[in-house]
Parts: sequence; structure tokens; C-alpha cells
Amino acid sequence: VRYSTTGTSSLENAQPVVVSTAYGEIALAHNGDIVNADALRAELQEKGWAFATSTDSEIIVRLLANELTVSGDMVKAIKNLTRILAGSYSLAILFAGKVFGLRDPHAIKPLVLGKLQNGYGIASETVVFDFLGGTALRDVAAGEVVVIDNKGYTSHGARSNAPKAHCMFEWVYFARPDAVLEGVLVYEVRKRLGEKLAEREQVEADIVVPVPDSGRAYALGYSETSGLQYVEGLIKNRFVERTFIMPEQKARELSVKLKLNPVRQLLCGKRVVLIDDSIVRGTTMREIVRLLRKGGAREVHVRIGSPPIVAPCYLGIDMKTRDQFIALERTWDEIAKILTADSVAYVPLETLVECIGKDARDLCLGCLTAEYPVEIKGEKFRGQQVLEYYIEEGR
Ligand code: SF4
Repeated sequence: VRYSTTGTSSLENAQPVVVSTAYGEIALAHNGDIVNADALRAELQEKGWAFATSTDSEIIVRLLANELTVSGDMVKAIKNLTRILAGSYSLAILFAGKVFGLRDPHAIKPLVLGKLQNGYGIASETVVFDFLGGTALRDVAAGEVVVIDNKGYTSHGARSNAPKAHCMFEWVYFARPDAVLEGVLVYEVRKRLGEKLAEREQVEADIVVPVPDSGRAYALGYSETSGLQYVEGLIKNRFVERTFIMPEQKARELSVKLKLNPVRQLLCGKRVVLIDDSIVRGTTMREIVRLLRKGGAREVHVRIGSPPIVAPCYLGIDMKTRDQFIALERTWDEIAKILTADSVAYVPLETLVECIGKDARDLCLGCLTAEYPVEIKGEKFRGQQVLEYYIEEGR
């Protein structure tokens, strides 16, 4: 398993990362991104440590092995990690016949505890437990360590009313629509955003067409509120991967062409409202607009169910360089021109926050506001407490 953020998508970087210690093997799977990974790697290499991969996950597992050697206690060793690591990390660790889970002190990436027929488990999304015939019990709390063994599970160090920083992009795009994150069904958020988009950004048109699958719930909300008919004017080849997670731009462009087929009988002569969750670079959207026109659409009005992405993500989504963002320092009209669309409109930030239903201080909105919940060199820290605030002795 590999979604490349820090480190490439090569085989040796696939997870879990396994290391041997005097206490036995540790296997670790990591969702997130460690912002001080480079500094830690350099510091440890100076001490003579060698790394087999280019991932931040290997740094975590080697630090963990070291902490375990010092303390002899895995829970303590895991808790100590939170003093060293900055960034986002939901971890699943297999060691000595037990599963250990850790969610970072800002709870940036999701982690869920669930009950299975013969025990317990942890996963990024609640749907995993649906498939396995179990039940999702609750989100792992910010900074909490969960230990699962053959007797059940125990919780260590759940804490605090300190602000969280749940990644808003999980609700907008990344998570499955049937997942429940922090008690909020992803599908509902997307549909509400579509409704708001219709209230604010109506346009004279004939049909609403989603970009499948990411735009579906948004388009349904837009259609119900605007009264425009919902039409599946683009049909997806079900055997082709999601384009956003492909690391190479070329692969993404080729994939759009392989993936979507415009249905001429539904589109011909129509004024189309085209709906998707977000635009990052704009290359995929531009290609989709072109496909709709090829299918006979008379007008294409792009409506996006989240605010413009204008800043990098250092915390788990692979978009790290500023110059790639189509929305950076451009008006909506300028964006429409690049996309060859008749118009473009987005949802404002307050509406996004309202639709997720959380306090803005408990969300990471970094790629929309360029203010981040953890300190990142060269970027604006949004003024939350520094990491140490969350970590008290013995928790
Ligand atoms: S910067 Fe954006 S994508 Fe990255 S964790 Fe924050 S909200 Fe999510």
C-alpha cells in the first residue's frame, strides 16, 4: 500500500514498513505526512543510522524501535513519538501479537476503532468495519494510543479539549461518501455543499452533470435545490483508477481520456452545469470540459463544491508546490478561461465549515487559507498552541 507524499511510489516504500528489534519485529502502517521528516532523517543519519527507504514512515518505525529499546514499554515508546514527530500521523503498529494505534495530537487524519466478530480493529474509515461484518465504535481521539490484544482493547492517553485540525479534504474528496468521520457522514456534507452551491451560484442551464464519482453527491444537492435535472452525462470506465492519486501528470491526463465517456444523446445542445468537489491543477477539469463539448454540450458552467485550493498540503495529501494550483492569484473568470468553460464558481470557506458542522478551529483548512495547524518552515502558523501544549507528562 502506498499513497506517496514524502518519498516516491516505489516498491521498497510500500507499507507496512518492518524493522527488527531486540524485542522482535515491528510492522508499521502510516497515513499522514511528517513535516519534520527531513530534519529528523539528517539528524539520525549524522548519528550513523541507515535508512532503506525514502519514506517518513521508516523514520517513525526506526524512532519507535529506538524508544522501545530505551523504555522497554511499547505504549510509552509510542507516546514518546508524539514529542518528536510534527505533522499528521495515524498509525497502525503490529508488535508482539498486539495491534497498537496512534492518532496524532491534532487528529488530522482519520482513525477509527471498530468491533469485529472475534475482536477489535482500527482503520482509516468506518466502511472497513461494514465490509468485515463488524461495527465502527468510535474515532480514535487526538493523541490517543489504542492497544488491541486477544482480550479486547485498552485506551491510553486520550485527551483534552485543545483544538483539533481534522483535514477538511477528507469530507470534500478523499474519504468514501459512505464513511462517517467524527460523527459526520461524508455523503451528507457533500450533498449539503451542492445545495449551498445551487443557492449561491445558479446559472441559466438545462441539466446538472456530475464528474463521476467525486461530484455525484454535490450534483444531487445542486439538482434538488435548483430544480435542474440530474443527468449522468459522463460515464466512467469502472476499471480505471482515480486520477488525483496518480503521481505523474502524464498518467493523470491519459487516465482522464480512458476513464470518461461523454453521452452525446444526453448532452447534445444542452447548457450543462458541471459539478465536482474541487480543482487542484485544472488539467483534469479542462479535459472534462473538452469532453462535454465533444459530446455536444452548448455551454459548460463549472461549479465546485469547495473553496479554491491555493496553498500546498504538507499534512498528507500529495500537492506540495504552489505553482501547480490553477486558483492561485486568479479570478474565477480567469480560471474559466483556462478551463475553456463558460463560467466557474466555488463555495466560500464559511459555507464549507458550516456544511461540515465543526468549529473552524477544529479543522485543518491549510490548503485553502495558507495557515497551518502545525508549524511549517516558511508558512504561516495559524496560532494554535505549539505541539508541546498537547503533550503532558505521563499521558
Ligand atoms: S492542508 Fe488541506 S489537504 Fe492538507 S491536511 Fe490540511 S486541509 Fe487537508
